[in-house]
Amino acid sequence: LAEAIGSSVIPIVNKLQDIFAHLGSDSTIDLPQVAVVGSQSSGKSSVLEALVGRDFLPRGSDICTRRPLVLQLVQCPPRVDGAGGEGDEWGEFLHLPGKRLYDFLEIRREIQAETDREAGGNKGVSDKQIRLKIFSPNVLNITLVDLPGITKVPVGDQPSDIENRIRNMIRSYIRYETCIILAVSPANADLANSDALQMARIVDPDGSRTIGVITKLDIMDRGTDARNLLTGKVIPLKLGYVGIVNRSQEDINQNRSIKDALAYEESFFRSRPVYHGLAHCLGIPQLAKKLNQILVQHIRAILPSLKSRINSQLVAVAKEHAAYGDVAESKAGQGVKLLNILTKYCEAFSSMVDGKDELSTDE
Ligand code: GDP
Ligand code: MG
Repeated sequence: LAEAIGSSVIPIVNKLQDIFAHLGSDSTIDLPQVAVVGSQSSGKSSVLEALVGRDFLPRGSDICTRRPLVLQLVQCPPRVDGAGGEGDEWGEFLHLPGKRLYDFLEIRREIQAETDREAGGNKGVSDKQIRLKIFSPNVLNITLVDLPGITKVPVGDQPSDIENRIRNMIRSYIRYETCIILAVSPANADLANSDALQMARIVDPDGSRTIGVITKLDIMDRGTDARNLLTGKVIPLKLGYVGIVNRSQEDINQNRSIKDALAYEESFFRSRPVYHGLAHCLGIPQLAKKLNQILVQHIRAILPSLKSRINSQLVAVAKEHAAYGDVAESKAGQGVKLLNILTKYCEAFSSMVDGKDELSTDE
């Protein structure tokens, strides 16, 4: 049941988000999104990429994500001709309307070019969004936001208050009650030092919308493991933790595929007895599942207030529209009305003549 509700409600919410983005207004309706937070190079972009299942995000050991990237995943039916992957999945940028990018390397290049256009080529950071839609049969209908990571020391063209700027940018996304926070912390650093959990706690003190994501389980100090982190014994989190093994920089340099990486992740957990019995909080597929469940519950909970807010905006717009009433009654307006009536009449008439009996009463 949850599945059915999720698949019908989430696309509508996505559509609304699109409309608000186009209107350019500060959206007055808080729609659910999933945002990643954490320090630089903790693995945020890697986690998002793995969730999408395609390589297209700039990643690396340096600062790569320098503008917020709002990523709308749209599930669409697979092609029926059995041609396979090619042509089944594509991306579309809001700043390149109508242009379908089937080559995911091209998508990555465009993210980089568009980042440079706004934030310059020398490590500058900007809070202006890049909006990208990914259409694919293999994704859940959710909106993900990739954000620059928290850094402390300015490099390149960054201003001296870079840390504060990035924190404010992150906060402007995660402060909304409707934002689900993926707090990404690497397993090879002390969780008590986690920028991600610290920021998440400021806006979500009781942890009702924060999922802990522990990356880099493969490169922990020898003799340590993440069992206590994952089970919440170190820092408890209501929604729990998921442990992840992403691709290393070497894997990226060698173009290791996501498919290989997921297979490796699975075998990594399977071959380590210390992680046995924790299957519910291990791996990218588990994170995807958890996210979807939480998102559906979340949307369900906010639907009534969302509806009443949209209704009151609608009433306001209708009032404004009524104030322009005379325009609609101009000659041209009347002509259009008449034409519509005639068209409907003709359609109804011809289908009657054809004997189809299709006198539908829509509107
Ligand atoms: P971001 O700055 O938080 O977006 O981090 P990125 O996703 O760009 O990753 C930063 C670097 O860490 C890259 O070189 C990744 O290959 C590496 N990395 C991320 N996650 C893991 C992981 O789970 N294991 C290993 N070995 N490396 C990782
Ligand atoms: Mg990144």
